[in-house]
Amino acid sequence: MKHFGTAPDRPAANDARLFLADRVTLLYDSLPLALTAVVINGGILAAVQRSVISQPLISLWFGSLLAVTLLRFGLYHGYRHRSHSADPVPWFKLFLIGALGSGLIWGSTAYLMFPERDPVHQLFVIFVVGGMSAGAVTTLAASFLALLFFLLPAMGPVIFRLYQLDAPLSDVMAAMLVLFLAMISIAARRSRKLIMESLVRRYEHQRTEAAMEHQAHHDSLTELPNRRLLVHRLEQEISRSRRHRFLAAVLFIDIDRFKTINDSLGHSVGDSLLREVAMRLKSNVREEDTAARLGGDEFVIILSELGDNDTLVARKTQRLAEKIENLLSEPYQIEGHTLHVTPSIGIAMFPVDDADAEEVLKQSDIAMYRAKQLGRNTIQFYLPAMQQAAKTRLDIENELRDAVERDEMELYFQPQLDADGRMVGAETLLRWNHPQRGMISPADFIPVAEDTGTILILGEWVLQRACLQLKSWMDTTTDEALCAFPCLAINVSPKQFRQQDFFQRVQHIIKHTGVDPRHIELELTEGMLIENIEDTAEKMAQLADLGIRLAIDDFGTGYSSLHYLTRLRLDRIKIDQSFVRDIPRARHSEVIVETIILMAKNLGLDVIAEGVETEAQLNFLKQRGCFTYQGYYFSKPLPRDAFQRYLRNGCKS
Ligand code: C2E
Ligand code: CA
Ligand code: CA
Repeated sequence: MKHFGTAPDRPAANDARLFLADRVTLLYDSLPLALTAVVINGGILAAVQRSVISQPLISLWFGSLLAVTLLRFGLYHGYRHRSHSADPVPWFKLFLIGALGSGLIWGSTAYLMFPERDPVHQLFVIFVVGGMSAGAVTTLAASFLALLFFLLPAMGPVIFRLYQLDAPLSDVMAAMLVLFLAMISIAARRSRKLIMESLVRRYEHQRTEAAMEHQAHHDSLTELPNRRLLVHRLEQEISRSRRHRFLAAVLFIDIDRFKTINDSLGHSVGDSLLREVAMRLKSNVREEDTAARLGGDEFVIILSELGDNDTLVARKTQRLAEKIENLLSEPYQIEGHTLHVTPSIGIAMFPVDDADAEEVLKQSDIAMYRAKQLGRNTIQFYLPAMQQAAKTRLDIENELRDAVERDEMELYFQPQLDADGRMVGAETLLRWNHPQRGMISPADFIPVAEDTGTILILGEWVLQRACLQLKSWMDTTTDEALCAFPCLAINVSPKQFRQQDFFQRVQHIIKHTGVDPRHIELELTEGMLIENIEDTAEKMAQLADLGIRLAIDDFGTGYSSLHYLTRLRLDRIKIDQSFVRDIPRARHSEVIVETIILMAKNLGLDVIAEGVETEAQLNFLKQRGCFTYQGYYFSKPLPRDAFQRYLRNGCKS
C-alpha cells in the first residue's frame, strides 16, 4: 500500500528545484519535436544561403548542426531507457549542455551564414533564428534555465551582428530583436508557471488519494492496519503458507480489564493506553509480520513463515507470544497515572484444512476467550495438540538443561561390521533416560538441544564419555575382542563443530583421557561442512593431523559437490539409511547407492552403509562393492554392558 506518511505541505510553485524529475521528463518528451524542427529549418537555411555563402562554410555549419542534433537524439534515447530511480540532476545538466550546443549552432549563423552585402539573405537568417527562438518557448517551457541556455547563444550573436552593421535600420532591428527576446522570455515564464501549477495539483491529488486509501485501511486512533487490511493480509499469508508449505500463526490479543480503566480514568486515558499498546506492538514485530487493531482493546498479530515442524513452530510461537505478553505488561505512564495491564493471548496456527482468513481469526478469538477464562494474563492455543506440543517442547527444553547433571544421559553403542561379520567399529548414540517420560529418542531432543544451545554441553559430555569408555576398553580389559577394538564413531552437531575452539576442545579431551586418537572417528553432516568451507577445511585438517578419522554422516541428503569433497580431509562416507531402506526395490535409491559407492572408491574413501535391516540389502551392497555395514540386521544400538557381551559372543546377539 502506498501512502506518503508525512508529506510536506503545499509546495511553493516557484521553487526552482521542485518537481525536477517531472520537469526533466517534460523537457525530454518535447525533444523529438524540437530536433525535427531544427533539422528542417537548418536544411532550408542551408539550401537558401547556397547562392551567397561558400559551399565549405555551408557544409561546416550544417554538418555541425546535424552532429549536435544526433548527440541530442542519443541523449533522448538514453533518457528513455534510464532506470526509474535515476537521479534527475545529471540528466538535467546533460539537457542544458545539449540546449547550449544547439543555441551556439544557431547563433553561429550570424557569422557563418550571414552574407556581407545581401540584405534579403541577411533578413532570412534573422527570420529563421527568430522563428527557432519563438518555437523554443513551447518546447523548453518546463525549465526557464534551459530556455536561457538556448536563447542567449542563439539570438545574442545575431543581435550583436546587426548592431555592428552600418546598413539603414540595422540598429533599430537590433533593438527590436532585444525587445522580442524579452517578450518571449516573459511568455516562457508564464507557461512555466502554468506547468508548475498543474504539477502541484497532480501532486495534491495523489496525496489525497493516498490519504483516503490509508484511512480506509488503517485505524485512526493507532494508525495500525484495521480489520479490512488485516483480513486481506491474512488471506495472502494463508495462500502463501499453503503454497510454500510453512506454518504461520495469528495472535489474538485482548487487554485485560481495559474497560475498568476506560470507565474509571476516562476515555482520553483509555485512548492513550491503546496508542501506547499499538506502539509497543508495532516496534516489536518483525518487518514481515503484521500488527493490526480490530477495534476496542483487541489487537491481532500475524506471524508469518515460522517453519515447517509442528512442535518447533508451536514452541517458537509460544515464545513470541510470551515476549509480547511481557512487553505489554510493562507499566504505562499516562497522564500522570502509572498503569499496569496484562494481555490475554489466543493463538491459531495456519494453514489448517481449508480454513480461510475469517475462520482463522475466529479460532484465535476462541483461543483468546479460553485464555481469559483460565484467569487472564495467559496464552492459549486454539488446537489442544499445539498446546501440548508447545508444552512438551518447553518441558524438554527446561529439563534437558539439567539432564547431564542429573545423570540421565547414557551412551549406547551400535556395532559396525565387515562382510565377514567381524566388528570394525561402533557408533556412539546418545540416550536420555527421563525419570517420567522413559527413554527419549535423540531424534526428539537433539534438535531441541541444537535450538537452545544445550547441545554444546551435551556434545562435550558425549565426547568426554565416549573417549573414557574407549580408553577403558583398550586398557583394562584382558578380553581379546575388546582389545582389538578398531574405531569408535562419535556424532558432532553443527553448532558444536562451529565453535571457534572446537579443535582445542577435542585436543584437550584426548589429552585428558589419554585415548589414542587413531581409534576415534568424528561424524559430521554434509550441511555443516559446506557452510563455511574455508574454516571447515582448516578445522578438519587440524583434526586429521591429530590422527582422528573423519566421516560424513547421512551422505546423499545434503548438497555435496565433488569439488568440496576433494578439498576436505575425509576418511569415510556413511550412506544415509533412507537410501538403504529402499533397496533393492526402488530403482532411484539403487542408483544413488551405486553412485555413492563408486564415487567413494574413486576418491579413495571408505564407505559404510547404515540402516541395514535385511539380507537382501546386505547382498545388494556387497555386490556393488560396499563392505562395511551398520544396522538392525546385525544389532540395534546397545547399552554398554550388552555391547560388551555382544563382542564377547563373537558379534552374535
Ligand atoms: P544418526 O547419526 O544417523 O544415527 C543413526 C540412527 O539410525 C540411530 O538413531 C540408530 O539407532 C538408527 N539406526 C541404526 N540402524 C538402524 C536400522 O537398521 N534401521 C533403522 N530404522 N534405524 C537404524 P538414534 O540413536 O535414534 O539417533 C538419531 C539421531 O540422533 C542420530 O542419527 C544423530 O543424528 C543424533 N544423535 C544421536 N546421538 C548423538 C550424539 O551423541 N550427538 C549428536 N550431535 N547427535 C546424536
Ligand atoms: Ca551418526
Ligand atoms: Ca546417519
